[in-house]
Amino acid sequence: MNQLSDRINNLSTSQTLAMAAKARELKAQGKDIISLSLGEPDFNTPDFIKEAAKKAIDENYSTYTPVDGYVELKEAICRKFKRDNGLDYKPSQIVVSTGAKQSLYNIAQVMLNEGDEVILPAPYWVSYYEIIKLSGGVPVVVPTSVETDFKITPQQLEAAITSKTKMMWFSSPCNPSGSVYNREELTALAKVLEKHSNIYVVSDEIYEHINFSGTFCSIASVPGMFERTVTVNGVAKAFAMTGWRIGYIGGPEFIAKACTKMQGQVTSGANSIAQRATIAAVDANPEVLKDMVNAFHSRRDLVIGLINEIPGLKVNVPEGAFYVFPDVSYYFGKTLNGYEIKNADNFSMYLLEYANVATVTGDAFGNPDCIRFSYATSEALLTEALRRIKDALA
Ligand code: PMP
Ligand code: GLU
Repeated sequence: MNQLSDRINNLSTSQTLAMAAKARELKAQGKDIISLSLGEPDFNTPDFIKEAAKKAIDENYSTYTPVDGYVELKEAICRKFKRDNGLDYKPSQIVVSTGAKQSLYNIAQVMLNEGDEVILPAPYWVSYYEIIKLSGGVPVVVPTSVETDFKITPQQLEAAITSKTKMMWFSSPCNPSGSVYNREELTALAKVLEKHSNIYVVSDEIYEHINFSGTFCSIASVPGMFERTVTVNGVAKAFAMTGWRIGYIGGPEFIAKACTKMQGQVTSGANSIAQRATIAAVDANPEVLKDMVNAFHSRRDLVIGLINEIPGLKVNVPEGAFYVFPDVSYYFGKTLNGYEIKNADNFSMYLLEYANVATVTGDAFGNPDCIRFSYATSEALLTEALRRIKDALA
């Protein structure tokens, strides 16, 4: 008899976390692995945020927090949405959660019934697909390719809509492609959605500040979209706070209320100290992130330059986040060092074995021609990793 539920048996393991764990395990065995698998800044959390956390401990912020977050934090998040995105959310429209991952899970749980379709432009972030499935939804994947900078067109969106479409989920800047949708592109997508007033959008903006394009647009700020968008954000990436586990949403009040109800039965309010620290983070002028963003920018240029020297890899120039997503399909069907590369999974495993570099297969993101590198590591390690990859493919 199978002791575990169908629910868990049907759930795939997170490929980003699995590859990171594998790289860690090989390193512990003494192998010289360079891990470009996990999307995690290699910077420390800024001191002013750490100070706010220390103060919170001393001030005894040690009890249960309100399920939807401290009111001071929700007010600070409203100021942030206004300052950075031109969005006028009220505190009653904000829910603070244990990471943006929980924010996304809450949304799926409160919005989806069995069989509801969710449009996922691919490549999508790995966990969207599984969270939607886990909540009874049916992911409808809309493929894109390196040739179109991995962005969907209004025509593709229109063609994917059926009477069962409930939502569309996407990230911009995109994990894994780094693509950033500009205002015109989002307005064109919104025009399609205008005709289907029952469709809601999840806009995952967690990489908002790691953006080299010079502009950023929240789809909720496009006319007609505010009432039908849930804007997801968090402090993990921009403020190098992945372990602090704070994410949040701004959205229609009925969705915020429902997410609060869900969270109240599952985790209660998010961590008290991390919430107090997050007030300092979201109230800070994004200028404080300049050095970190500049470092990511120059790493991006370095990595793109090195990838372009490797025959057969095709890549877009990502405008944000800290990933590159090269198309490696040129190598499919080829045998290197006696290892037959049939697909992106094989390609990624080949690099792990023959270049000692950990990456993530594009399959995990709904694009079977690509693999993902995270460049959230030092220029020296990136240079060495790309040298090894070039040698292993020669
Ligand atoms: N969305 C995207 C696109 C991400 O890359 C991540 C990375 N973990 C998350 C959400 C989840 O963020 P958090 O660490 O706040 O749960
Ligand atoms: N978002 C990061 C990534 O895509 C962290 C891993 C995860 O949360 O799955 O690598």
